[in-house]
Formats: sequence, C-alpha cells, structure tokens
Amino acid sequence: MNASPMDDPARKDKKLLQESRKLYLRELNKQLQQLEPLLAGKPGPDAAKTIYRMVHSMKGSAPIFGFTRIGAAAEKLARLWEWAADAEDDRGDTAERFFESIGSGRKHMLELMMEKELYEREMEVAEPGGAPQPAENPLSGSRLLIIDDDDVLRGYLARRLVLDGYTVDEASDVETAKQLLYERNYDLISLDLMMHPELGYELFAFLKEDPTLKWVPLIVISGRNDVQDKVRCFQLGADDYVTKPFEYEELSARIFSLLRRTKNFEQLAFRDPLTGVYNRRYFDHQVQVELQRVRRYPAAISIVFIDIDRFKSVNDTYGHHIGDLVLQGLAHLLQNHVRATDLLARFGGEEFVIVLPGSDGANAVKLMEGIRQMAHENPVAHVEGKPFHITFSAGVSTWSDGLSLDQWIRQADAAMYDAKQQGRDRVVMYEEKRHAAEAQPAPQQPVARKKIVIAGNDPILRSILGSRLQQLDAEIVEAASGKDAYRHATSPSTADLCILDRMMPDSDGFNVLERLKSERSLHRGIKVLMMSERSREEEAAKGIEFGADDVMIKPFSVVELETRVKRLLEG
Ligand code: GH3
Ligand code: MG
Ligand code: MG
Repeated sequence: MNASPMDDPARKDKKLLQESRKLYLRELNKQLQQLEPLLAGKPGPDAAKTIYRMVHSMKGSAPIFGFTRIGAAAEKLARLWEWAADAEDDRGDTAERFFESIGSGRKHMLELMMEKELYEREMEVAEPGGAPQPAENPLSGSRLLIIDDDDVLRGYLARRLVLDGYTVDEASDVETAKQLLYERNYDLISLDLMMHPELGYELFAFLKEDPTLKWVPLIVISGRNDVQDKVRCFQLGADDYVTKPFEYEELSARIFSLLRRTKNFEQLAFRDPLTGVYNRRYFDHQVQVELQRVRRYPAAISIVFIDIDRFKSVNDTYGHHIGDLVLQGLAHLLQNHVRATDLLARFGGEEFVIVLPGSDGANAVKLMEGIRQMAHENPVAHVEGKPFHITFSAGVSTWSDGLSLDQWIRQADAAMYDAKQQGRDRVVMYEEKRHAAEAQPAPQQPVARKKIVIAGNDPILRSILGSRLQQLDAEIVEAASGKDAYRHATSPSTADLCILDRMMPDSDGFNVLERLKSERSLHRGIKVLMMSERSREEEAAKGIEFGADDVMIKPFSVVELETRVKRLLEG
C-alpha cells in the first residue's frame, strides 16, 4: 500500500513547524501592540520592567521558530532596558533612565516591527495558494538600486522588494552607488536625500550628467517634508518624492507605476513596431552604454550583423506582406536564442544586429551557427499554410582595446559582407588581415571638411546647388555622369553625401545608388540624396527601398534642399 503524502513524517514535521511559526507571529503581534504605547512614553515604575520582560522573552523565543532577525532586534531592545531588571535597588534615577531608553528604544522598536512584517510576508509568499508569487508581478525581474545610509530601513525595503519579485541592489553611500551604476543597468533608483557623509544631492549631478543614466526613473525618499526640498528635487530631475515614514504598500505602488510608465514609453520610443525588437535609436544609445562598461571593466563583448539572403526576391515574388511576416519570424527566432543581457535590434530594413556582452568571437559564432541551423530546420513563417524557409548571412566582430565604436560596427558589417561574397547562408568572423585597410583608424584630420558630390546632367542646376551648399563649408565636387558620380563619391576619399539626379547621360541615378549601397562596407557612412523628376510617390518609395537616405521631388526649394543636406550631414 502506498503511503499518502501526509503520512510522511518529515512532511508532517514541516507542517507542524509552519503552524507554530504562524501561531508565534500572531502572539508576537499582540505583544508588539502592547509594547508600542509603552514605548510612546508614559512613565511608570512598572512600564520599564514590563518592556524589559517582553523583549527579553522575544529575544529568547523568536529564534526558536526561525525568526532570528526578530531575535536580534529584540536583543538590542533588551540590552537597552536591562537596568529595569534590577530597578528595585536603584538610586532613584529611574525616570531619567526611562526617557533615555525610550529615545533609542523607538528606533529598535521600528526595526522589530519591520522584521515581523517581513517574516509575515515571507510566510504568505511561501504558502501554497497564498499571497501572489513574485512571478505574478509583470515587472518582476526589473533591477532596482536602493541608496540609503539607514541600514535597517534599506535592508527592510530591499527584502520586501525582493519578495515582490524585483532584483535589488543596495548602496549605503554615494561612492558605492556610483560604482554600482557603472557596473549595471538599473530600471529604477530610489535615493535617500539625507545621507552621510555626502548628501543624496551629490548623486543628482552625477546621474543627470551621464547620458546613459539620466533617464533612469528616480524616486527620492526623504525624511524632510519640506516644499523647497521637493521642488528642488523635481527640478533636478526626480520623478517622484516620498517622505519618511511611509507605508511600504504606497512606495511599492509608486515604484510599480513608475516602472510601468517607463516600460510603456520605451515600448513606443525604442521598439520596432513591426518586429517588436529594439529599434535603431535604442541600439545606438545602448551599444555606447555597453562599450563604456567594457572599457571600464574589461570583458569580452561581440557584435553580430545579420542580413536576410535574397530578401528582395521574397518581396518581389510573394509581396511585402509576406516579407513582413518573414522579418517577424526571424526576429522571433533571434529573440528566443539570445540572453536577457544581449541586445537585439533591427538595424535597418532586413538587417538585425546583436550585441553580446561577455561573449568572445568563438562564442558568438557558435550562437549564430546554432541559429542558422534552426532556420534550416524550422520555417520562419507560413505562406498559405506552407512552411517558408529563409537563410541569412552573419558577420561577427569582437571588440578589442583601442577599437572605436564605429570601427567595431564596421568590422561586423564587413564580415557580413564577406559572408555574402562567399555564397551567403553562413557566419563569418571578422579577420584583421583580410581587411587590413579598413581596420586602420581613419587618419585624424584637424578639421574634417565634409565632401559632397553633386551629380546630374543639368549643369545649371549643379552649379546653383553647388554655390548654395558652398556655405556649409564643404568640399563640393560636381559630376556630369553616373560614372563620374561613382568615381568622385569613392575616391580619393569617400564622400559624406552624394546628391544624385535620377537622369544622367550614361545611367539612371538608381544604378549609382545601388552600387554605392551594395558596396557599403567599403564606403560606409556615405549618404545618398536622390533627386527625382516625376512627382509620383512610387519614385520616392523606390529611392528609399534602394537605400537612399532621402528623396527630393522636383521642383523643390533650394532652401529645403539645404535643410535636408544639413540634416543628412549631421545624422
Ligand atoms: P542579399 O542576399 O544580398 O542581402 O540580397 P537582398 O535581396 O536581401 O538584398 P538587399 O539586402 O539589398 O535587400 C533589401 C530589401 O529589403 C529591399 C527591401 O525591399 C526589403 N525591405 C527592407 N525593409 C523592409 C520591410 O520593412 N518590409 C519588407 N517587406 N521588406 C523590406
Ligand atoms: Mg540588406
Ligand atoms: Mg539581404
């Protein structure tokens, strides 16, 4: 016969212990309720003794049920009231001692209450079907930093927040906080204003001056309910202000709401609406954060460029809608295979980029080979119920000391381009020797004058544009044919901007555009502005599809052109 689970003696013991722990907390609650008015300070000869007796017994009994922290807090109180044990043979300064003990007693009393609350909450969470589990908090996993020099309050807050499912780090002073902020990404910071030796204000300047930290939600917690202080904090960039003493529930609700609002905002501003992965804007920001981090704390970090193979033909054969489904499918596949700390973003059209902190080149290649294999085995989408497969080409580059962000990205892009050249559907690691010329840092020119190529068959238009753009202090080169346009755009130096007329004697401007964009690992950074005759929308769409950075339809105002050129040169 099988024993039922309840017959298991170990289980029985555990259940019994659980029951007595609950009972004990209930009793403790009653005692604390009696203790509180006594400590509120109504002197009486018996009060001191009663307090001592109560905390003395707590000190002894709480640890028996596993409540060691309550025991420790009670012990501090007991020590404070020890004199009361033999107050009988006292010399009559009982009242004085009473008030002295009450002064420091309140702080310990608070600690005692907090510990009790924490244990209650811990037991609720442990109870099957009891209080909500951390996983039910939709924002659980968010990482918070609690900066407060009050050890008891900070410890309490941190442990309660952990019970609510957050990941929490603590700092007791400004220096430690700075250190942690360098090392990790936080979703929210709570800052105590009145700290020693440095005031919390110190940290404001530090947070708000750092582009990578200035948007982290910040809650100020302060003992001062002073309007001036509040106004100052909000002006300095705080998102919320909470005064001590506060109810944990209120603070927790404020934290939750701030995190949720930030997440929603991020969703709108930093996510690509089609695929749901991070967009280029977020990538540009976050890759700098990651690089800053490895520069401070050296560790391996790799970047991967991914481009779908022959994607244009997917669009051409099945239509854009299917193309979009494929993009979503690949984004999904990639997202499922990267770690939470990796940064996956849609870089542009059908290109994705992944930053892999902690991964060297070999690891990154291994990861990508795995994903490539997955793409072979599993359809990325279904078209009319039929499985649809794609392949992609990927380039990997590992960051090494001295490499600029731009060079690093360029290397991954060049490796991806190599993968295409070698026949697609492969992962290629960037190799120094093959790209010796590109790896060289660009020679530092004292003043980098921008180079603009103006190409088109109309000499009058060229010269008007040229003289107008001269004002931008750029080197202007005119080209009358597609061939010249390409030559001037790529040598002797790569142009910053190429303004291409659609109509040229020897070629269509789109051909030049296509060539420049397909060789972009060679001419990275070159921007193209297309000028188009026909005022048809498809024309503009085609330009963008071919990779133009901007399209202008004739007739246009020269002032408008100038504005757009400036924007392109800055961006
Ligand atoms: P290769 O193997 O050389 O990469 O060939 P390819 O056809 O993929 O060439 P390329 O990378 O130049 O093609 C990019 C195409 O991606 C052009 C454009 O039609 C398509 N594209 C870019 N963004 C989107 C999008 O958001 N949706 C869809 N459906 N297509 C897009
Ligand atoms: Mg592409
Ligand atoms: Mg492609």
